[in-house]
Amino acid sequence: MDEKRKIVFNQETEEDQVYSLSLRPSSVAEFVGQKDVVANLLVSLKAAKQRKEPIEHMLFSGPPGLGKTSLANIVAHEMEARLTITSGPAIDRAGDLIGILTNLEAGDILFIDEIHRLSKAVEEFLYPAMESFKIDFTVDKGPYARTINFNLKPFTLIGATTRSGLLSSPLRDRFGIFYHLEFYAAEELSEIVMRSAKKLNVDIDPASAAEISRRARGTPRIANRLLRRVRDYAQVKAPNRAVTKTVVDEAMQTLRIDPSGLDDIDRKLLKAIYENYNGGPVGVETLAATLNEEVDTLVDVIEPYLLKIGFLKRTPRGRELTDLSVRHIRGVSSPDLFQK
Ligand code: ADP
Repeated sequence: MDEKRKIVFNQETEEDQVYSLSLRPSSVAEFVGQKDVVANLLVSLKAAKQRKEPIEHMLFSGPPGLGKTSLANIVAHEMEARLTITSGPAIDRAGDLIGILTNLEAGDILFIDEIHRLSKAVEEFLYPAMESFKIDFTVDKGPYARTINFNLKPFTLIGATTRSGLLSSPLRDRFGIFYHLEFYAAEELSEIVMRSAKKLNVDIDPASAAEISRRARGTPRIANRLLRRVRDYAQVKAPNRAVTKTVVDEAMQTLRIDPSGLDDIDRKLLKAIYENYNGGPVGVETLAATLNEEVDTLVDVIEPYLLKIGFLKRTPRGRELTDLSVRHIRGVSSPDLFQK
């Protein structure tokens, strides 16, 4: 995937993984924003610690890059628990899950990212494991079938999903705590950018941090990624390697990210609705086919931010542009970017 596409497709890349070691907040104090979630989480953590019990199973939902994995790390840190990280697509067979579960010690935390992508067969083993820390595994078939029972140690499952509506209801019902993460305010992202800049040894002023934040789609992962791109740009092009507002603007232009934080894929989507469907409404399947993208990519990754900033409306008959986005497309804010 090319660099520009990666910005919007804010799933974790290898580069992010390398930097996440140094940039990921490891304690509540370093975790910026999501005030309500953090306040509630602190109560649950304190109560569990007082009772000397593992914290209840919890589910984090929200678009990629908003801090679900970071929160799981923080819960583990606060509970002084061991954390095992895996993901729905990585657990192919029931045997894989059983292997992971039977290796957990009392109080351990198991984090399953993209938990909505677990197969049905695997998911069914999770129900008794979550409910009563047991699994019954049947080997062989017909008259030779035997059931092996495993007793598990009490553990905490933390699931993460981009949309909690994608989870089957039996799985959803087994979580005691739900948190939905929202996009971050620009000031919160600025704080994250300033902190990351310090850790990365980047000389940056608050105005430049604010400009990066404005273009980061409300998402810390994207803010950190843009900061790294701006750092590269400043290193090669700017005197003293200092990041200034002009440097940020120029770097954003080379990445084709406009002042609203939209990039080529967002603009392609808006333009398709404007030109091919007269501003909408258009069904999401039709739109995905027109853009040659997966429906899930549109719904999970591209649309949430456009909905949030009021550029897109979801109606029963499909997606519609708003006055704001029509003005944007007509070139009020960034005419050159819409030409290509
Ligand atoms: P998710 O699991 O929701 O996709 P992550 O927890 O992996 O998101 O977050 C992506 C990156 O963004 C992290 O590595 C971290 O550097 C940064 N980040 C996320 N949330 C915060 C936050 N609240 N405060 C500071 N940095 C954050």
